[in-house]
Amino acid sequence: MTRKEFVKACGLLGISVPFQSMFASCNKEIVEISDFTGSVMIIGAGAAGMASAHFLAQKGIDFQILEASNTYGGRMKHTTSFVDFPIPLGAEWLHVAESELANIVNNTSTQISTQFEAYQAQGQVAYFEEGNLSYANISDDFGNDFIDKKFINSSWLGFFEEYILPDISSKINFDTPIVSIDYQGDKVIATDNSGQTYEADKLIVTAPLKILQEGAIAFTPQLPSSHQNAIQDAPVWGGIKVFLEFSEKFYPLYLSFPDSETSVGQRVYYDAAYGQNSASNVLGLVALGAQANQYQELTGDAQRDFILNELDTVFNSLASQTYIKHIVQNWDDEPYIHSAYLADNAASNISSRLSKSIEEKIYFAGEAYTQEDDWGGVHNATRSARDVVNEFT
Ligand SMILES: Cc1cc2nc3c(=O)[nH]c(=O)nc-3n(C[C@H](O)[C@H](O)[C@H](O)COP(=O)(O)OP(=O)(O)OC[C@H]3O[C@@H](n4cnc5c(N)ncnc54)[C@H](O)[C@@H]3O)c2cc1C
Repeated sequence: MTRKEFVKACGLLGISVPFQSMFASCNKEIVEISDFTGSVMIIGAGAAGMASAHFLAQKGIDFQILEASNTYGGRMKHTTSFVDFPIPLGAEWLHVAESELANIVNNTSTQISTQFEAYQAQGQVAYFEEGNLSYANISDDFGNDFIDKKFINSSWLGFFEEYILPDISSKINFDTPIVSIDYQGDKVIATDNSGQTYEADKLIVTAPLKILQEGAIAFTPQLPSSHQNAIQDAPVWGGIKVFLEFSEKFYPLYLSFPDSETSVGQRVYYDAAYGQNSASNVLGLVALGAQANQYQELTGDAQRDFILNELDTVFNSLASQTYIKHIVQNWDDEPYIHSAYLADNAASNISSRLSKSIEEKIYFAGEAYTQEDDWGGVHNATRSARDVVNEFT
């Protein structure tokens, strides 16, 4: 079964569903002190950058993180000011077993208290086609392999803030967009947009693939042609998330459409407050690739009205009658990210080619640079971080 077939078999909720993780999981611990005595620079403080730093810290290795924006987390961004639980503006679901969190923390003496809510097999999924709304059980529509879980009163970012950030926060340089990397000599030299240089023995690049596609970072010498071709060939999806608060809950767990799962994109509305200890009714919309365009090309009131109208058509005007407020995260507009993730239907060799290190100096970690036959999720980003750190330590 190819990844694409697997995603299709999983139906709508194939949104970032793991493939390789169905067949293998990564359980190695890396707590030993390494023989490597050099220094490491990490570009980016998202999931892969923070996890790389955490694994290096555990091994007693000298590192610093160079982050372009003024905060950490990258595509794990959340907001705590919309309602009374964190709203995940990027990564939302845990697509793999909860034991993955222990793999990231990588310290058996740490008790992880993060709580999750799984979906019940009898949970209702609605399907809207040609004016008709029909309902099915999650298990009937998405199959019994569906294991996605929601964070309860937390998020992927919350997990990283609690268990990873304390080890590494003092080593993050914010507002430091790297514009060039010179790896001709023994040391790697990175230069930021104000001309300041940083030097180390090894460099881990975790900047999003879209940022590399845009040529925002110049490499000297140029990257090998295999990397350059993979970067240019990669289909990277854009994406948008919208969260709407309503005074009544008129919607089911998921609402899907005939174009909810295609080779060029996906979209779904879902109960974003599912499992939360909250009275707030919050409906989420996530749209990726081509399916995101219809929402991204609008802004402000026009965008809100388009969404309410779409929901009103399905739910007899209940959306506009009970609307309170909404929040939008358009990932194509997010500085230094400009994208959602490597498309689900990308050829699997793109991610694995990009995961190859260069001259034992340049390493890639992140959702789109994985040695496994899967990509796109936080778990993929952190597993690639572990692989990279293990490669040179
Ligand atoms: C809409 C959406 C929904 C998603 N849903 C899920 C989900 O439910 N579950 C899941 O597991 N995953 C989900 N994901 C994917 C998940 O968010 C990503 O796979 C993961 O967060 C990527 O981590 P990363 O470290 O590879 O990249 P990023 O988080 O993008 O981190 C890269 C960092 O590099 C920085 N950077 C960029 N350029 C430079 C530069 N030149 N110099 C210095 N720093 C730079 C950026 O500012 C950023 O902080 C979703 C993503 C999106 C967008």
